[in-house]
Parts: sequence; C-alpha cells; structure tokens
Amino acid sequence: MAEKRDYYEVLGVQKDASAEEIKKAYRKITKENHPDLHPGDKACEERFKEANEAYEVLSDEEKRKKYDQFGHAAFDPNAGYGGGGFGGFEDIFGGGFGGFGDIFSSIFGGGGAARQNPNAPRRGDNVRAQVNISFEEAAFGCEKEITTQRIEQCPDCKGSGCAPGTTAEVCPDCKGSGSVRTTQRTPFGMAQSMGPCQKCRGTGKIIHQPCKTCRGLGSIRRQHKMTVKIPAGIDDGQSISRAGFGNSGLNGGPAGDLLISVIVRPHAIFEREGTNVYMEQEISFAQATLGAELELPTLDGKVKYTIPEGTQPGTTFRLRGKGIPYLRSPSTRGDQFVTVKVAVPRNLSGAQKEKLREYAADMGEGSVGHSGGIFGKKKK
Ligand code: ZN
Repeated sequence: MAEKRDYYEVLGVQKDASAEEIKKAYRKITKENHPDLHPGDKACEERFKEANEAYEVLSDEEKRKKYDQFGHAAFDPNAGYGGGGFGGFEDIFGGGFGGFGDIFSSIFGGGGAARQNPNAPRRGDNVRAQVNISFEEAAFGCEKEITTQRIEQCPDCKGSGCAPGTTAEVCPDCKGSGSVRTTQRTPFGMAQSMGPCQKCRGTGKIIHQPCKTCRGLGSIRRQHKMTVKIPAGIDDGQSISRAGFGNSGLNGGPAGDLLISVIVRPHAIFEREGTNVYMEQEISFAQATLGAELELPTLDGKVKYTIPEGTQPGTTFRLRGKGIPYLRSPSTRGDQFVTVKVAVPRNLSGAQKEKLREYAADMGEGSVGHSGGIFGKKKK
C-alpha cells in the first residue's frame, strides 16, 4: 500500500479534536476541493477523496478509537482487524471492540452475576456500517450496496459445531450448565463460588468431532452484501437500521441489526439546514439596479427567477418547495433560499468609467473616481 497520510493531518486537526472540529475541517476541505468546482483537477479530486476517507473514520467514535490504536492497519482488510471485528469469538460475545457489550452484559446478567445457561438462545450482535452519499442522493434517496463482515450460522453444521453425522456430548462435569460450583477452604470457613466449567470452557458441551468449516464454533465470519434503500431526505449523521441483518444469534436466538450511519458529502454550491437549501448568487450592479431574470441552480435543475429593480445586496429570495424532501413525508419539501451578492465591476474601460461618472454626477454624488490610476490627480 502506498504511503498513506495520517487522517488527522489530512483534515488538519489535532489528535484530540472534537467531533465538531473534525466535521468543520472536513466540510471546509471538501467544499474547497469539490470536484464539481474543479472539473478535471486531479489534485483537488485526490484531496476530496482523501478527506472523505479520513472523515469516515474520524467521525465514527468506534473507528476513531481503533485508528488511534492501530493506525491505518485497523482498516486494512488484509491485516485481519478489518470490518469491525477482532476475530469471531470476541464479536460473538461482545468483547471490547464490539461496541455493544452492554447488550451482552445485560444478557449475561452483567456485573459478575452467575452466567446463564450457555445453551440458552442469545441475540446476535449488531453490526455497524457506514455509507457515504452525495448531497443529491441524500435529498432524493438512493440505493447503495452495503458490504459488511458479519457472523453467520455455519451452514454445514447449522450452528451445532459438530461434524456432519455427529452430535455434541453434554459436558459431564457441569451437566451442560457451563458453570461449576467450587468450594474453597478459607480462614473463615468454606466458601463457595461459581465459575466457568474448565472441561467444556463454559460451553456446556463437548464436541468430539468439530465441524471443519467453523472449527466447532458453530458460526463463521462472512462478507455479506446487500442493497439498502436510503430514504429521500436523510441528513448527514443520521442512521438507518435493518433489523435482523446483523450477526446471527446463538442457539436459535434472533440476529442483531445492521446499523448504517450516513455521511453526506457537501455540495459545491448548496448548504443544507434541515430541509432547507441555502446558496449565494452573485449578480451584477446593473442587474441589482435594473432588475433581471436570473437562471438559478436548484436540486431540480435550473429555474428562472426574476429579481426586482433595486435589489439590495444581501437580499434573500425564497424558492418554495425547492428544498429537501421531508424524511417522513417525502412529498413535502423545504425551500431554497438564495442570497444575492452584488459584484462591483472591476476594470471598466475608460468609456464605461466616463458614463459612470456622468451617472454619479447626475445623482449628485459630486466628485468620484480618479482621472488615471490610483495615484492620479482628482478631477477638480
Ligand atoms: Zn460448522
């Protein structure tokens, strides 16, 4: 892999930058280097892509933690850490990296309480994914293929972990409960404690001939692809869940969910706030003064809009219904707000300046401008 820049360096933020600072830096860089604004500029495109990649990691608390710990290797599919897991076992049981350990601690009873029957049904872990979409895709919805690494029941042994034609033996030491009571002599008398059964390592069963496919685990880690419909109106930072598309459950328990967080790439022209779209439009001094018919970009393409005579700089016009569809009622849309900036003409010709001076004189503005160059003498 080519030398990759540090993600913090890419976004130009400190290692301890807040989520808000990271977002700000990302928006600034992607806006400045937006491919729509610099068609064909490879350097800008590269910066844009690089910032997107960095943001995908640093905007996600879990991924950022991993990145801080392992650097780029954390997301290298060949390094074995990738895709949100550190090996099947840890994922199934909600280890330190799962991020959903709380679900498991509640299933296990949390805080050191006795373990439940290891063969009781258990819900699978949730799986997280991220999708990076354009401003327009967020506005009007889209379909994206999402690839996840998830735990699935082993198809060969149907989760039993046993080679075909064999079955597991109930552990004779713990009678299948997975835990054993041990009695210890202490200075205060006999003390009893519960601990995982050593013989079956807490599983409650002994597999004599493990399934070759899953090596007795009953589950395998697999790449899973699915097409997910992203609804119109979704906004940056929101997420979508697909029930039952997470890791498969254990012992017949239900699968976890797939949680997809959405990153919306900034637009070259538009800003978005809720369902409204904002933009600035430059108009000329003459257009502002005399009024004009403008061609304005909208999410639906160009529209004509007439500004009245005497439009002042900073005036905002509203294009009703040209904003973003409401997530929960897509037939309703927000508005587009266009704020005009009046460009002061530069480099007028001598004749044009003369006319403007005439105009100024006519308006009673007295002496304006110079007769030649910045240091020229003022006309008296
Ligand atoms: Zn198997």
